[in-house]
Amino acid sequence: MCADHVFPRHTRVDLPVVVAGDGAWLIDANGKKYLDGCGGAAVSCLGHSAKPVLDAVKQQQDTISYAHTSFFTSEPAEKLADKLIELAPDNMERVYFVSGGSEATESAIKLARQYFLEIGQPERKHIIARKQSYHGNTLGALSAGGNMWRKAQFEPLMVPSMVHIDACHYWRFAEPGEGEFDYGQRVANQLEEMIQQLGPQNVAAFIAEPIVGATMGAVPPVEGYYDRIQEICKEHGVLLIMDEVMVGCGRTGKYFASEHYNIKPDMICIAKGIAAGIQPLAAMLCSAEIYRAIKDGSGFFQHGHTYLAHPSACAAGLAVLEEIESRNLLERVTELGAKLEAGLQKAFGQHPHVGDIRGKGLFWGLELVTDRQSKSPFDPKLGIAGRAKKAAFARGLMIYPMGGTIDGKSGDHILLAPPFIYEDEHIDMLIERLALALDDVFAEQQIAS
Ligand code: PMP
Repeated sequence: MCADHVFPRHTRVDLPVVVAGDGAWLIDANGKKYLDGCGGAAVSCLGHSAKPVLDAVKQQQDTISYAHTSFFTSEPAEKLADKLIELAPDNMERVYFVSGGSEATESAIKLARQYFLEIGQPERKHIIARKQSYHGNTLGALSAGGNMWRKAQFEPLMVPSMVHIDACHYWRFAEPGEGEFDYGQRVANQLEEMIQQLGPQNVAAFIAEPIVGATMGAVPPVEGYYDRIQEICKEHGVLLIMDEVMVGCGRTGKYFASEHYNIKPDMICIAKGIAAGIQPLAAMLCSAEIYRAIKDGSGFFQHGHTYLAHPSACAAGLAVLEEIESRNLLERVTELGAKLEAGLQKAFGQHPHVGDIRGKGLFWGLELVTDRQSKSPFDPKLGIAGRAKKAAFARGLMIYPMGGTIDGKSGDHILLAPPFIYEDEHIDMLIERLALALDDVFAEQQIAS
């Protein structure tokens, strides 16, 4: 098979050709099997052969595979929207279906701007986001993100009205002796300070991930952080956008990760697991208030893409939700997550180069450090996380790496986001292979240093 005409992201890397998927496994053209420990990028929540979803897509394609949303809605889109609204925090009213996470966050940012135009507050243009965050790779979403590695070479970005406050990452950024709660209040209060600096009348929205994903490696907020954030947003009429592209759709044991922290956002973005990677699908949910402002105002969200609410993609999304419900997969995520956490703590809790193990449900991060005491990151030039990915891949395990290039402060980490359909033994296998891979990397590293 020829793999020479596809433009890969890393042009100096040869990739194996994937030919099959079977539950938790992917298989390449040479017959080598890889245990999926990260769902690609937290996407393949049902593994790689979810027949009910594949059947639902085929059936939809036999019925009507595509119809433009300026002419028609479709049954799978309507049914999936109903289900998502049923599951979402109770102020959510409408669902806007797009094809990927960046499209979802771009939609939310534009809708925030349009909402304020519709209600006669056109000065509200600023969007506040957080450092070390990621909201997508298109230029608007990239501007919102605070991942310097991804955005630096494209500066100046196109959206000048984006500003950033600190992330909430106690283990990495707290002052010596500072308690968790106090730290959370201090960094949340930066939102208040930023709003005051910009003038509350000029601020449209605050966007953040409830649990930070790839950029920092599965970092949950500390207690009280989101209570304070919500208080501040409410007080100043600033919209709260939760980017659940990575952590939504059951990944953390609840369908929406916001539920863990009692967050009632004005908009929520989901993607990745919504259609389990079987079709490209994402969604932006918005509150009744926002929807009504558009409906009673211009009546038209000034946005759109060719593949909005694609019927075959929505059919996949609906079938994924049915699988999650009928197989009690949210409970299973919590159960497997507890096993994964215990296993990671046992295998790596005292590992000299694993500084922190954190996460929720089936979403876990390991931060790699030169030594546990100093928490010092490795020199980014060593590419430790990338080497770990390579070593794990050689041992038949997929993990998601992120390099230590974040403002020079945070370090390499590995993200784990296995499918919800894992058997218990897959967790053991993942940990065993990961331990061997890290041994490979640090043996090499000692020789090199
Ligand atoms: N937001 C978050 C939190 C993400 O993790 C990602 C993708 N990793 C995106 C947005 C962008 O999604 P996509 O790659 O589907 O455009």
